[in-house]
Amino acid sequence: MQSTSQPILKDLVLIGGGHSHVAVIKSFGMKPMPGVRLTIISRDVHTPYSGMLPGYVAGHYQFDEVHIDLRPLAQFAGARLYHDEALRIDKKNKTVICKSRPAVPYDVLSINIGSTPQIGNISGAAEFAVAVKPISQFVDRWKRFLDRLAAQTSPCKICVVGAGAAGVELILSIQFRLKKMFEELGRNSVELSYHLVSKSEQIMPSFPSAVADRFDTILHERGVIVHRGVEATEACDGKLILSNGDHLDADETFFVTAASAAPWLIESGFDVDENGFVKVNDTLEILSHPNIFAAGDAA
Ligand SMILES: Cc1cc2nc3c(=O)[nH]c(=O)nc-3n(C[C@H](O)[C@H](O)[C@H](O)COP(=O)(O)OP(=O)(O)OC[C@H]3O[C@@H](n4cnc5c(N)ncnc54)[C@H](O)[C@@H]3O)c2cc1C
Repeated sequence: MQSTSQPILKDLVLIGGGHSHVAVIKSFGMKPMPGVRLTIISRDVHTPYSGMLPGYVAGHYQFDEVHIDLRPLAQFAGARLYHDEALRIDKKNKTVICKSRPAVPYDVLSINIGSTPQIGNISGAAEFAVAVKPISQFVDRWKRFLDRLAAQTSPCKICVVGAGAAGVELILSIQFRLKKMFEELGRNSVELSYHLVSKSEQIMPSFPSAVADRFDTILHERGVIVHRGVEATEACDGKLILSNGDHLDADETFFVTAASAAPWLIESGFDVDENGFVKVNDTLEILSHPNIFAAGDAA
């Protein structure tokens, strides 16, 4: 907590411990602003660095290496850290409405809450599959999957839905980890098969075709079956149903589909783009709401 005799003149509130806010908190600790009280509201105390998630899945990194513990960082900055989830902004009263604690007042607010893959429109996905974000949920499910697989003696089919860079990286990381695990268990990794579902004919459609071709070759060499030009329409126990009518056997399904914004950004009355992401100016201030900023995937 800030140890200063200076009265609190302004409340600066950060929602989310995303990459941008981590840098802000660190800078604030290095150069505090007299009279400004910093408050962080974050759903996760251990904020993940998603660029390292495939390395975590592959077994190259441990949990602590791919997460930033916000507690010591907040302490360094003399900030209040509320482990809670923001539900919406009450702009009239200038407060953040939270899931578990009383509303948090702000003078200046910043939102850096990331995004999640779109799975809401896929029947059964929330129950029978897991999205790669929120990462804390994914990490729990991944650990349970590893335990289950170690005990399972029958062949196992792994599906990844979404063939952008993250989906391709994830399926190759999963394969790397499971191959090693099976070697250590003295089992044959032929029991494992991998399916990648790509909405577009070409994987990694936002990359130059030379890059996509290279990864196509790698996936082919490693025996990953790519289902092209199809979408997942339904997940159920042990199956993934595709838009072309195919029913894939799926012991575990991971969704790494296009990012979607938190619905509460619209519900809070912010001006958003067609995908629900907040519109900001060059200084990351929300166009429709001065004194409220948004950064990272949310903007
Ligand atoms: C497998 C994978 C690999 C990737 N690799 C790369 C890469 O190499 N390079 C790259 O540029 N991008 C990569 N990305 C994309 C990258 O994940 C995002 O662009 C990045 O994480 C966005 O950062 P952010 O700061 O917006 O949010 P995040 O890093 O997602 O942080 C969001 C924070 O907000 C908190 N939060 C969320 N909702 C709330 C709420 N309602 N209230 C309070 N707190 C909340 C969360 O707990 C978290 O602390 C990858 C994505 C995936 C899935």
